[in-house]
Order: sequence, then C-alpha cells, then structure tokens
Amino acid sequence: MSLMYGETGNGIAINALFIQPTYACAKNCKGCYVKLHQKKSETETDVENLTELIRRVTAGEGITANQITLSCDSMGHNELANQYMMRVYNSFGRNAEWKNGSNKDIELHVTVNSVHDLAKYSKNRLYPFDCISFSKLGHNLKSDIDDIKNYHSVKKINWNLQRPMYNHVICEKDWMCEIERVHDFVDSIYLLHTKRPIDTNDDLEQLVKDKENLRKDLHWMGLVKQRLAGSPKLMIDGCINDAMEYKKSLHGCSASVSRFQVWPDGSVSGCAYAKTSSTGPATTVEGIIANIRSAKRRYDFKSCYIPGALPNVLR
Ligand code: SF4
Repeated sequence: MSLMYGETGNGIAINALFIQPTYACAKNCKGCYVKLHQKKSETETDVENLTELIRRVTAGEGITANQITLSCDSMGHNELANQYMMRVYNSFGRNAEWKNGSNKDIELHVTVNSVHDLAKYSKNRLYPFDCISFSKLGHNLKSDIDDIKNYHSVKKINWNLQRPMYNHVICEKDWMCEIERVHDFVDSIYLLHTKRPIDTNDDLEQLVKDKENLRKDLHWMGLVKQRLAGSPKLMIDGCINDAMEYKKSLHGCSASVSRFQVWPDGSVSGCAYAKTSSTGPATTVEGIIANIRSAKRRYDFKSCYIPGALPNVLR
C-alpha cells in the first residue's frame, strides 16, 4: 500500500506508528530508551485511548499508517500495569485478526524481549501478527519459533540484535556461530546500533564516546555481514542508514515526517529515542492524534547525534 504522507482528505497519513503503552517493565535491557525518557506525566493514558487509537488507525478512520508496532513490556511490576498491557495486547491482536476498512493492508507488528515474555501475553491467545521482533533469541528456541509461525500464522520473525559484550563466558567465535544458527530459522536480523537518547547535552567528551560506540558497532556489523555474506535477511539499523544518507543528500530520517512514537502518557515524539516528547500528554484519543499532527512541526533529527558521530568512523 502506498500512502502520501501528510494531511489527506481523510485526515492524517503516516508510514509507521510505534506505541509504547507503559513505563513499567521488569527488565533492564541494555540501551532501553523507555526508562530514559523524561515523563511529562506520571500517569499512563487510559487504555481506551490506546485501543481506540489502534482501532482507528487499523480501520483508516481519520488516520492511516502502513504499519503499527506495539511494544510489549516484560510485565511483572504490578497487577494493574499487567492488566493494562494485556488489554492493549488483546485489542491489538483482535485488530490483526479483523483488519478491515480502507486500511486493510496495514501491518501490525509486536516487539518483545523474549519468547518467555511473549508467552505471558499469548497464554490465552497468540494473534496472526505480521511480524514479531525479539530482542533475545537462541538456537535452542527453533521449535518455539517454528510453532509461532506454523500454528499461529505469525508471518515474520525478526531478531533485534545488539553488539554483545564479550567476556570469558562468551567469545566472538561462539557468538558468530550462534548468530548463524538463529539466522537459519528467523526471517530477518536487524543489527541495532546501541543509541543514547537524542536531545541530551552533547559535550566533547560525549561526542568522543558516541564516535567510539558507533565505530565498535559498525565494526561488529561488518563482521556479521562477512560471516553471513550475501544474506538478504540482514538489515542495518535504519538510523545509521538515515544518517549516512543525510551526509550524502541532506535528507535525514523520517522521524517526525512519517514515523511517530506515542508515549505512555499520550505525548508524542517523532524519534523513538527522543529524551523528551515534542508534545504534552493527552487524555483523549483525539488528543493523541492532535499530538501526532503537532509533533510534525518539530523535526527531532535536528537534535540527532548520529550524523555528527559518523565522519571519523567512515574514513
Ligand atoms: S532522529 Fe532519526 S536517526 Fe536519529 S536516533 Fe532518532 S530515529 Fe534515529
């Protein structure tokens, strides 16, 4: 489905919408942007606002998108937060089953830490999502992944892979073997650059750290690409591609142009790694949609540190 991004006769058209329903997560994952985001309100928006937002975008009512991604946390903090997440998950899943309206080609994606965490959501039902992205996978999970695809009609499995920290337990050689084995049964591997939030204070010391971090990540991505030479399943972090493209053509990333992140309080930023939202919180679904419109007026990429970190590493 192709959409003209911007305002249309039917409302607003965007490419991708990311929904982050809660700040609560029992995990402390390396590089997690959610816990670093500065809250504009202590409270999460009503579950009805998120379920109605998902319904409207899926049906193409006043807002259309090519893709919605729901972030499912690891739960476990408190019963209320768990119930809240389950309601959003089930509503999202029902939309995946009943895609209808003018926006029927929309893709519904889920991101989750592990198969174990997904099982907390799917104990009653796993829906036919277009893609599930896991942060943690291992070769021992092949049969679980096969089940997810074959019995639950999930179309694609993606592995969001970050540069591992090698130590005496895990060495580069073992890790490359593991990546190769998982690569055989997933549909894609997204090689992630471990980012820090944008829109934070950048001093010289920070810039040196950013360059070094990016250099290490690019080196590691190069090794993976070498190991799996020619694999169409490998994808490099879109932020790196966007920053490289910007250096060539001065066209930057699509955050705040056609891609938006809805935070737990209903506030919105273009960039998923923004330290602060571009808008205030929202207490209604109309408020969230108005926030998406308003976030378009601020181009988060202007504050992005990645293009500045690139020159030395590309020499
Ligand atoms: S501004 Fe764009 S390129 Fe930079 S971190 Fe955000 S999404 Fe990535």
